[in-house]
Amino acid sequence: MILDCAVIGGGPAGLNAALVLGRSRRKTILFDDNKPRNAVTSESHGFITRDGIHPQEFKRVAQDELNRYPDVRTEKQRVHRITKENNVFQVETENGRVYSAKKIILATGFKEVLPDIPRVKEFYGKSLFSCPFCDGWELRDRPLAVITDDEKAFHMAKMVSNWTNDLIIFTNGSKLLSPEEQELLKSKDISINEKKIAALIGEEGMLSKIRFEDETEVLREGGFITAEWKQAASFDSSLEYTLNEQGGIETDSFKRTNMEGVFACGDTRIAGPSQLIIAAGEGSMAAMAVNAALIEEKFN
Ligand SMILES: Cc1cc2nc3c(=O)[nH]c(=O)nc-3n(C[C@H](O)[C@H](O)[C@H](O)COP(=O)(O)OP(=O)(O)OC[C@H]3O[C@@H](n4cnc5c(N)ncnc54)[C@H](O)[C@@H]3O)c2cc1C
Repeated sequence: MILDCAVIGGGPAGLNAALVLGRSRRKTILFDDNKPRNAVTSESHGFITRDGIHPQEFKRVAQDELNRYPDVRTEKQRVHRITKENNVFQVETENGRVYSAKKIILATGFKEVLPDIPRVKEFYGKSLFSCPFCDGWELRDRPLAVITDDEKAFHMAKMVSNWTNDLIIFTNGSKLLSPEEQELLKSKDISINEKKIAALIGEEGMLSKIRFEDETEVLREGGFITAEWKQAASFDSSLEYTLNEQGGIETDSFKRTNMEGVFACGDTRIAGPSQLIIAAGEGSMAAMAVNAALIEEKFN
């Protein structure tokens, strides 16, 4: 049987895409190996009606809703190959099964490459985060750090200053900030520390201080870090879609890639803010675009 659509990735983007496709009576299969980037955290914020929900509870509720739609099926499998022959996609999972679909939605998300700082992974998702809109409220008014060794430093420091008046930016040995930026930050009482970080100190993921190579320490109770973003999925794929400068899958506003029949939504686009509600909205848009394409094919 040739399915209408295969959705790869069951985060909020893929789940919402599958919901809209199911409600549009499209034969849909959703593949997910359940390794989202927010697995490191226990609360997701900023999604109205779901503010503070555990990420896995979010997925459970979503799956319950999908179960109402008989045309949607979920496979807890990783897709490792996608090919296109005669306008039909062949999607192969790691257990060797192959599924055929007329359209593909890529909703595979991205992965962070955290800065190379000892113990950083212990704190990420518990007291160190990457998105102030997601976790700034929980850290408000505390002594915070912005830890960064890339060009996002100045922007991140300005953003985080919205949630605390006690902010230090740590560049981990890099000289990232121009004299003008340094001046501006200092004028807003944001300190700059350019020492090389030796270790992050704290218990059970809760940061208490930052230690430097010169053995000095600074007390901090949490903060934000900047990370590099990479595609979470690397298919052995014959798909040829364009990537943007950040390595995200490029689409138009309907989430169509430049390859006929391939759509992309959510974090995998690496194009702007990364949030559950944005990913879910994009999933909805991609599903509507798939539906529109199938309708056009029917009437042409
Ligand atoms: C520490 C942290 C805290 C965060 N806090 C918040 C918050 O409070 N509020 C908020 O709105 N956002 C938050 N986010 C961001 C949010 O998690 C993402 O924006 C959102 O999950 C993106 O959804 P997505 O569906 O695009 O991708 P993801 O949620 O990453 O889902 C992608 C899914 O695709 C699967 N997948 C990937 N490749 C394959 C494959 N080849 N085959 C099958 N499945 C595959 C993955 O396993 C995963 O389940 C946070 C992120 C982090 C890291």
